[in-house]
Amino acid sequence: MGLMSGKKGVIFGVANDRSLAWHIAERLHEEGAEMAFTHLPPPKMERRVRLLAEPIGAKVIVPCDVTDDAQVKQVFQQVNAEMGRLDFVVHSIAYASRAALSNPFHHTSRADFHQAMDISVYSLVALCQQGHRFMNPEASVLTLTYFGGQKVIPGYTVMGVCKAALEASVRYLAAEMGRENHIRVNALSAGPVMTLSSSAVDGIDRMLRHYPTKAPLHRNIRADEVGKAGLYLLSDLSSGVTGEVHYVDAGYNTVGW
Ligand code: NAD
Repeated sequence: MGLMSGKKGVIFGVANDRSLAWHIAERLHEEGAEMAFTHLPPPKMERRVRLLAEPIGAKVIVPCDVTDDAQVKQVFQQVNAEMGRLDFVVHSIAYASRAALSNPFHHTSRADFHQAMDISVYSLVALCQQGHRFMNPEASVLTLTYFGGQKVIPGYTVMGVCKAALEASVRYLAAEMGRENHIRVNALSAGPVMTLSSSAVDGIDRMLRHYPTKAPLHRNIRADEVGKAGLYLLSDLSSGVTGEVHYVDAGYNTVGW
């Protein structure tokens, strides 16, 4: 019997096998979880996600652009119809335009700011709003964040502001969803890992070089470490934890020099 035997959930945010969401999904699968996956609507994205998700037994693989409430609602209705009630939801989604990520923060256009906040922050609210009625009591919701929401990190610009809002959203959502149905909401703050999204961040190479010089563990994290901590936050092992930002960053956030 695995830690997640009999548990069901939806994973939002797998783009390919480097995605942090995929590393979490692999761990959940090893522990017996049954999962549905979403993908961005273009057929190319669907093919990539199917190649990964079908071999681990995913029966529900559905398109979802999180900027469209109707699509978010449809995901939860379809998943509920085919799998029943949910024990966990993974939100591993962020986007900012290349222009927003390569220009100084004070040059961010209103349109780029709104888009980044909509996809990277409001989407978590939308998932909780549409999804909570399909969740079991004590279900767990997990989002992915980065230290650039707490401190200025060169090149992280508008996404740092999004992550600050995301982490505050986690606390407010945790307070409300905990009262309603003992649902937990947490964030996992990962150190830098090369993925499709992070490669669009101007400073990613610098971050990857810098962490091993400063982090207490003197190395970068491995993506499977995000998977392991994700399993903890989504399983009964963390039953008393909510509203938290849990760092998986080789200790980088703890040092001040
Ligand atoms: P990724 O590119 O694999 O994942 C990002 C996902 O967001 C993709 O699956 C993409 O399809 C999805 N997405 C973008 N716009 C969307 C939309 N409109 N609707 C639905 N989905 C949409 O990259 P990743 O690094 O695994 O990123 C996942 C999360 O982890 C993000 O929130 C990111 O900020 C966070 N994070 C990443 C790192 C890192 O270094 N890679 C570090 C800390 C936090």
